[in-house]
Amino acid sequence: MSPIVDLIEVRKSFGAVEVLKGVTFSVAPGSVAAIIGQSGSGKSTALRCMDGLEQVQGGELWVCGHKLHEPRFDKRALRRDVGIVFQSYNLFPHLTVEQNVTLALRLVKGQRGGEATDVAGAMLDKVGLGEKRGSYPEQLSGGQQQRVAIARSLAMQPKLMLFDEVTSALDPKLTGEVLRVMEQLAADGMTMVLVTHEMQFARNVANTVVYMRDGRVHEIGGPEILVRPNTPELADFVAHEY
Ligand code: ADP
Ligand code: MG
Repeated sequence: MSPIVDLIEVRKSFGAVEVLKGVTFSVAPGSVAAIIGQSGSGKSTALRCMDGLEQVQGGELWVCGHKLHEPRFDKRALRRDVGIVFQSYNLFPHLTVEQNVTLALRLVKGQRGGEATDVAGAMLDKVGLGEKRGSYPEQLSGGQQQRVAIARSLAMQPKLMLFDEVTSALDPKLTGEVLRVMEQLAADGMTMVLVTHEMQFARNVANTVVYMRDGRVHEIGGPEILVRPNTPELADFVAHEY
């Protein structure tokens, strides 16, 4: 099966600073890739390239069949195929949970009231928040708000989900409930790329672990590399993260 995500020697600079220095890895359909690495190593930039938020400047980047290395790729089509969730949930405070989830369905997919509401209800059930559809974001915990953000992305029925440190702002208890939702998604066969500092979680759900260092893939392998790293740099990294 051809990969859902394929990076081939991807390069990206901001001004004179090269942030991705030839990054190569791929993600098979239905699998989970976890990107780990020190702050500033280029993890978020790699993810933002996959979501079309940043234009790559060298190499090839294929996502769900879209050629993101070509400046004129179809951004609207990519939007329908890829969902991204960030550390900050960015829910609209004046909209209910349900309205937050249905908004994109109405605007992007042109779904009408009843249809959008049905999809939203199903996705909120999936993240365990079916009962909260009438609540406002400020009435929810951080973990619940993040689960709404995940439901909002899932409602678009993406082929690929990207997660950038989605639990970093949460305390350990709330972190657990968000990780469980992601675990379930993975078990359901969703293709996912996630940037995380949760080593135990990466070990449990990732098929591939990508250790980035200074804009390069320093080590890549199955989750066992978190237990038996092949490079001293990854060994040092995991020793400090666990
Ligand atoms: P990570 O997610 O691994 O912490 P990032 O991808 O956010 O790393 O950042 C990698 C490097 O690129 C950092 O040095 C950061 O300062 C720089 N960088 C990221 N985004 C921008 C931007 N929009 N403009 C300039 N520099 C940026
Ligand atoms: Mg980052």
